[in-house]
Amino acid sequence: MTGRTHDMAAFTALSFIVLTQPLPNMTMATGLVAVVANLIGGIAPDIDQPTAPFWRNLPIGGVVGRVFKTLIGGHRFLSHSILGVILFGIGWHFFLEVMKPSFPGLNMTIIWWAFMIGFVSHLIMDTFTREGVPWLLPIPVKFGIPPTKAFRVETGEFVERFVIFPLLIVLNAYLYYTHYQTIRDILHHQLK
Ligand SMILES: [Zn+2]
Repeated sequence: MTGRTHDMAAFTALSFIVLTQPLPNMTMATGLVAVVANLIGGIAPDIDQPTAPFWRNLPIGGVVGRVFKTLIGGHRFLSHSILGVILFGIGWHFFLEVMKPSFPGLNMTIIWWAFMIGFVSHLIMDTFTREGVPWLLPIPVKFGIPPTKAFRVETGEFVERFVIFPLLIVLNAYLYYTHYQTIRDILHHQLK
């Protein structure tokens, strides 16, 4: 799927969890950084696809992307698997631990979760595409929903652009509309 759809899906997943689960108090800065981390997490798995939007949006992305491809595999490889989720989770944790002393106002646990929610939402969304997702790497089998490839979504094509993307927006609108009071509570009491 395109970066735009992935980011919308990541944000939808984050919204759903924020609005339906009890939330710890946090600073406004933590909230904002968490949203950015969530959007980055939403496209991060495409780090193993040199042609993906993740690289295309960077100035020298094409070159760096190709180097990465040789390092960690080709199309939908390591970062599109449970093993990848674990490795990225550990790496992201260590990165945040290193940054922590410089940003005492940020709750790194919340930022860790926001990124990981985006990351996992990416793999779930890709599962609906033709290519499928090698969830169980190193077992080289790609999984998809529905199991019949022909019924799955083609990246960047009609169904993704005119059905899935708008549906995600509607879903967000519905979530925020039905949880209006929760949003008010969060803004008034939980963001400091
Ligand atoms: Zn992907």
